[in-house]
Amino acid sequence: MKKWIKVAVPLVLLVVLTVSALSASSMSDISNYGKLINYVGIVRGASQRVVKLETNGQPDNGLINYVTEILEELESGDGKYGLQRTANEEFNEELTALSQEWEAIRDEIARVRDGADQSVLLILSEEFFTKANDTVFSIEEYSGRRSAALATQLIITAVICLIISIMVIIFYVKRYFEMRRTAELLADQAGRDKLTGALNLERFREDAQKIINEHPQSKFAVQYIDFDNFKYINDVFGYDVGDRILKEYTSIMQESLEENELFARSVADCFIVLRCYEDKGQMLRKQRETDGEFLKTEVLPDKHNMRVACGICCAEDVVEELDIQDLIDRANYAKKTIKNVAGKYYALYNENIRRKMFKEIKISDSMESALANGEFLAYFQPKVTPSDGIIRAAEALVRWKNTEGGFHMPGEFIPIFEKNHTIGLLDKYMFEEVCRFLSDRIKQGKRVVPVSVNVSKIRFYTPGFVESYTEIKNHYGIPDNMLDIEFTETVACENPQYMLHVVKQLHENGFLCSLDDFGSGYSSLGMLKDMAIDVLKLDALFFRNSVDPEKAEIIIQGLLQMIRRLDIYTVAEGIESAEQVELLKEGGCDLIQGFYFYKPMPAEEFAQKLDEGA
Ligand code: C2E
Ligand code: MG
Ligand code: MG
Repeated sequence: MKKWIKVAVPLVLLVVLTVSALSASSMSDISNYGKLINYVGIVRGASQRVVKLETNGQPDNGLINYVTEILEELESGDGKYGLQRTANEEFNEELTALSQEWEAIRDEIARVRDGADQSVLLILSEEFFTKANDTVFSIEEYSGRRSAALATQLIITAVICLIISIMVIIFYVKRYFEMRRTAELLADQAGRDKLTGALNLERFREDAQKIINEHPQSKFAVQYIDFDNFKYINDVFGYDVGDRILKEYTSIMQESLEENELFARSVADCFIVLRCYEDKGQMLRKQRETDGEFLKTEVLPDKHNMRVACGICCAEDVVEELDIQDLIDRANYAKKTIKNVAGKYYALYNENIRRKMFKEIKISDSMESALANGEFLAYFQPKVTPSDGIIRAAEALVRWKNTEGGFHMPGEFIPIFEKNHTIGLLDKYMFEEVCRFLSDRIKQGKRVVPVSVNVSKIRFYTPGFVESYTEIKNHYGIPDNMLDIEFTETVACENPQYMLHVVKQLHENGFLCSLDDFGSGYSSLGMLKDMAIDVLKLDALFFRNSVDPEKAEIIIQGLLQMIRRLDIYTVAEGIESAEQVELLKEGGCDLIQGFYFYKPMPAEEFAQKLDEGA
């Protein structure tokens, strides 16, 4: 609070109290003056009557005493009539003179009663009258002066109080508006993304829903925008560059907004736009132009590797009654259909997408019951030694055979389970199936080979992952080094420290660890030196037809040699031809997993192959 207001408020109170006290005393004085005027007037009248009665031979001693009493009280301020002395010296002197004059009159009355002539008494009476008159005027004038002073004092105090009160009111009104502005600012900031200043998702939902509800005649569309390769930009050029790109896009997009349009950052490099349009084509052109402008900006370090994928859901194209979140979901879904698809940048939500989306929802919804019904099957793909083609290990791969006879490959449902975070359940289920398979064979004294299982990122980061897998392993009595856990590169790269810790724990509990799909992402050879993994699975991409087969061969040979020297086993995945097998044999690859030898097969078939000693 400002200092002056801290002083002003008590000061005003003090002034008001003091002035009230003073005014009360002044008013009581003024009422006393009225009484004095009255009584001096009585003295004046009564004295004339006393003299008149005396001269008429009807003396009135009672009246004389009455006048004497009043005059004495006027002078002393003490008596039964409640007359008080005033601080007015002039009036007091006049009262003294009046008393003396009255004394003289009373003496003269005594002489007249003794037979003296009345003429002196009449003269004294005249003089007394004039003096009493002057005294009345004097106190009247004094009272008037005091009344005027009191009025002035009250007016000045009122004005001061008014001014200070107005200042205090202005202060508080200003303060109220300042606080309201601050509150609005804070509320606005709370609804914005800190980095870009764009609206956040929650605020977007609220505001967009409001706009849509308030404009039932307008056409609205929600756009879901996502950058392809943004992770690459962050990894290669650093987060500062990434941040600048996000800010630049926000600024360009915000410039493009028109009435009843909104722009928000949903998460990471994903943005949402509410567009109000008349013509769909026009809206699309506008978005293309805006993105085109962005893709030309200086902040983009690698223009060729950056693109914008935009899914659009027009409310008019949706048959169901949808709220804003549903529109966002559909726009996002439309975007996913073109994300990382070459040559496709914009996708409008339509009937096809709708069907696909509902299929996904169906898959997602039936996962739990499918697990309970045992609809997920463990298929096994053998891993063989290149020299003799003998099965040395296998990978368990999930298949979904639903009750309606449908057969689904992992590519159809795993991404959905990853998205809805249920993949961890499936991983654990598969792991248990593998343990059961191995345990049955061990109990029957049949041949077994190490089997690897895939572990998703979600399962990997689930607290107690190693403990629960170890418990299952022990429950089924699976010997050490018979179970191999496959992680993908992304899991390993994301948190190498944690990965190291998990690998160590797994080793301590008798598991083998494989790094899956090496070479399919931004693999780093550097990470191999710290990883402590047992097996490296070279992705099928290494063996696909290349522009320069000789160079590809050099790389594969070099890689195999290097990995061997690191004491890591190598498994080549997706091997389909005799040439590839030959190349791997020459390079010293430990195991091959590919259709050239075996496709993934049901457990019974795999068991049979093992029994045959394949
Ligand atoms: P992955 O772990 O890299 O498994 C290898 C994939 O390559 C398998 O596909 C396999 O059938 C396929 N493959 C093997 N050899 C060849 C070949 O010579 N040519 C071709 N074209 N393909 C070959 P699949 O079974 O469709 O599985 C795809 C991916 O799904 C797996 O890739 C894995 O990432 C995931 N997956 C499968 N089962 C599970 C599971 O139980 N849990 C998790 N989290 N993921 C799983
Ligand atoms: Mg795998
Ligand atoms: Mg793989």
